Amino acid sequence: MMRDLFAEELDALHARSLDRHLREITGAQGSEIEIAGRRFINFSSNDYLGLANDPRLREAATAAIAEFGFGAGASRLISGTQSSHLRLERALTKWKGTEAALCFSSGYSAALGTIPALVAKNDVVLLDKLCHASLIDGAKLSGAVLRVFPHNHLRKLESHLEWAQREYPGHRVLIVTESVFSMDGNRAPLRELVELKKSFGALLMLDEAHAVGVIGSNGRGVAAAENVSEEVDVQMGTLSKALGSSGGYICGSRTLIDWLINRARSFIYSTAPPPATAAAALAAVDFLASPSGEERRLLLWERIKLMQQLLPRAGAKGEDVTARSAIFPWIVGDEKAALDLAAVLQSEGFLVPAIRYPTVAKGAARLRITVTATHKAAQIRELCKAIKRLTAIV
Ligand SMILES: *Cc1c(COP(=O)(O)O)cnc(C)c1O
Repeated sequence: MMRDLFAEELDALHARSLDRHLREITGAQGSEIEIAGRRFINFSSNDYLGLANDPRLREAATAAIAEFGFGAGASRLISGTQSSHLRLERALTKWKGTEAALCFSSGYSAALGTIPALVAKNDVVLLDKLCHASLIDGAKLSGAVLRVFPHNHLRKLESHLEWAQREYPGHRVLIVTESVFSMDGNRAPLRELVELKKSFGALLMLDEAHAVGVIGSNGRGVAAAENVSEEVDVQMGTLSKALGSSGGYICGSRTLIDWLINRARSFIYSTAPPPATAAAALAAVDFLASPSGEERRLLLWERIKLMQQLLPRAGAKGEDVTARSAIFPWIVGDEKAALDLAAVLQSEGFLVPAIRYPTVAKGAARLRITVTATHKAAQIRELCKAIKRLTAIV
């Protein structure tokens, strides 16, 4: 029977410490959150700037509800494009310094709609090994030939590019990577990637989900910070992490955006996000582009640097461990050991997620610590002290 089948599979997941469960948070997101009446210091969210519960976003959303009501009523192409969506896209365009922008209901749906609009059967997608699930799924859905290159491995990527040129001459080649990798916190060698993509005439898609709001002046992301914005054909990001709202976006040329409006199925066949969500995201973009937003981002970097000083071992294995983002992996290895460590930390009042397969490779389980601008220095010190004590590392 179907039920028994799933029960058995769930038991099998549990036996390997790979089962997952929801946990109820009974209040707003922030550096402290409440679970079952108890408060925890939260090192698990991607709300890097503390905007998810910021009065600016709350007020923008409330004002938009008063003006537009809640639901968008239809897809963007039917009657769902309300002023909030266009205002947000104009602000994103200006902030990112591209010709145009298009918003989706989530970052996941941005990837799922965009990649199949760019490539199809007999085209080639080259993905970094550590790419996010949304990028992998978008690439699979496209029907293009898929090749994965080892994480940040430029020489392997180059040989894949040569192979694609030889085997699929005249077809499109799309390189897909992230500027800050979501579970390792390290960065892609963007300038080198741009050189490669130019010399092979390939397209480059860059997911900046964990870079916007964190890296580059006014949080514009790595492409802007490295001054290669023009060279990155497809700049993807999310409004749901540092921007504290919800939704995904693609920035790029006017023709790219017009093409996506015509071909991205997750955009065309899905109801527009509520205008209030777009209004909140616009408030976040406006804040980031302002001096006080930049001040908040610099405060985040003070916290990142403190974390790096206190827990220098937290960093991707074999990587330059210099803090390069707000994400600090503490590699444990064994799945059960990672869960146990997270559970003990939780009993001491810290919420730090254990990340396991298939989000990361088998046997590469880890704590994923995220630092935000709203953490107090003392909270970061306490967490690092607890981790050192529990793992007996000095
Ligand atoms: C979270 C994330 C996404 C998806 O964005 P959502 O807006 O949460 O759907 C895409 N790519 C990366 C790298 C992410 O970390």
